[in-house]
Amino acid sequence: MAYRPNVVGVDTAGSNDKDGLYEFVVHLEDGTMCRVFYNRFPEWKLTNISRLLKTPCPICRKDYICNCFEKFKGDIDVQLRDGRIEQLLA
Ligand SMILES: [Zn+2]
Repeated sequence: MAYRPNVVGVDTAGSNDKDGLYEFVVHLEDGTMCRVFYNRFPEWKLTNISRLLKTPCPICRKDYICNCFEKFKGDIDVQLRDGRIEQLLA
């Protein structure tokens, strides 16, 4: 069964409005949390993603650093930009 991240929430973890840099913590349906970094200039771009090590990776089951979520950057980016970031920063 292919893994598919489903974003259920997002919190702002840090921001620098002047430079357009933002850090968010993303909550996925399975309890996984990821830290993502965005640069909003010239347009919103997800620059980095890493899983928080609170729970084992749902893909490879490791409880230490892995790169599995690199593959899902685009998927998570689409879900975050579907209104969630605007809501947070409004
Ligand atoms: Zn993994």
